[in-house]
Amino acid sequence: MGTLDTSPSNAPSVAPYDLPDSRGYFGEFGGSFVPEILVPALGELTNAFDEALHDPAFQARYHSLLRDYVGRPTALTFAERLTAHFGGARIYLKREDLCHTGAHKINNAIGQILLARRMGKTRIIAETGAGQHGVATATVCARFGMECIVYMGAEDMERQRLNVHRMNLLGAEVRPATSGSQTLKDATNEAIRDWVTNVRDTFYIIGSVVGPHPYPRMVRAFHTVIGEEVKAQLESREGRPNPDILIACVGGGSNAIGLFHPFLDDKNVRCVGVEASGEGLEGRHAATLTLGTPGILHGALSYLLQDDQGQIELAHSISAGLDYPGVGPEHAWLKQSGRVEYISATDTEAMEGVKLLSRTEGIIPALETAHAIAGLSQIAPGTPHDELIVLNCSGRGDKDMQTIAEAL
Ligand SMILES: *Cc1c(COP(=O)(O)O)cnc(C)c1O
Repeated sequence: MGTLDTSPSNAPSVAPYDLPDSRGYFGEFGGSFVPEILVPALGELTNAFDEALHDPAFQARYHSLLRDYVGRPTALTFAERLTAHFGGARIYLKREDLCHTGAHKINNAIGQILLARRMGKTRIIAETGAGQHGVATATVCARFGMECIVYMGAEDMERQRLNVHRMNLLGAEVRPATSGSQTLKDATNEAIRDWVTNVRDTFYIIGSVVGPHPYPRMVRAFHTVIGEEVKAQLESREGRPNPDILIACVGGGSNAIGLFHPFLDDKNVRCVGVEASGEGLEGRHAATLTLGTPGILHGALSYLLQDDQGQIELAHSISAGLDYPGVGPEHAWLKQSGRVEYISATDTEAMEGVKLLSRTEGIIPALETAHAIAGLSQIAPGTPHDELIVLNCSGRGDKDMQTIAEAL
């Protein structure tokens, strides 16, 4: 495939979607709100990242690992029976579930560990909620023989025991975060604390398009391969690079940005992000863009679920990967500017989505992906036959079988 997304400095064609600006802002969102001691580290990271993007050797190494280790390009599968089910536009699935480790997250983990090595860092830290980003990070650390510490909420370790075993098997140390709700936001606080203490030799691999500048731009760059591949694959299959509609689930927002970003400058491509509305928008949910308000979490200004005092509220979703009270700042801006539509799907609708994709296409999706399927159920009916929809199949459902079996 082509080169990494090198915006903002090298992408004349995508204005105004070549944000963030040099301070990390997407409109009013983003930025860098971190302890003083991390400011030089983030500056060093920004410089190293910009250099790497323009270094053909880095590009070649990244793309060869994506090909030979991750298994890219991933298939673009025409969903024949799902298309017939809705009776409208032709539906394609971008098969990130076929990536090594079973989801898109490895694209970013590969990119960041190459950057860590280029910067001479010897120790990798990460935080994880459901454990999927922890597994991706532990995987690339094993591949490169690097020390790996993953912070995980004690409660999440209990709920996601299998992923803890995976990380241990891969040689990572999983450290429980025992403060607060003992979930992802507490694990993130612990990871930031570790980074402050060990900033000289430690690289912090963040798992979505969240966190302080330059992470949202950097993680995006390592995932735009998804959308770039879709363009090339649609061109050869349908004779045109652009679909009419793109659909992806949104937790932090990385698989969605990876799919959407290469298409944002073409206004004819309708982009739809699907958040988790859990028990429903009146109950416990994780619909940050739909119901949240602007605030600062994990080093960036974006939409959050917070109470009147600015205390972060607990998110809820049946899908652990969408169960997060924040969202990437670029999505906050894309919502505000109206370029991307954000809708939501409940736990129950997501379970219907799991069944639908499993029974029409023989593909058991991750519960996160099932929210995109539920979004498709809202959008696909009534669309013209000659239109094209691409849905990002962000991950496979094996990891969720226990939850799925209980819910059914
Ligand atoms: C983590 C995860 C997500 C949510 O993360 P984003 O950053 O929003 O992409 C979605 N799907 C799968 C399969 C995941 O593992």
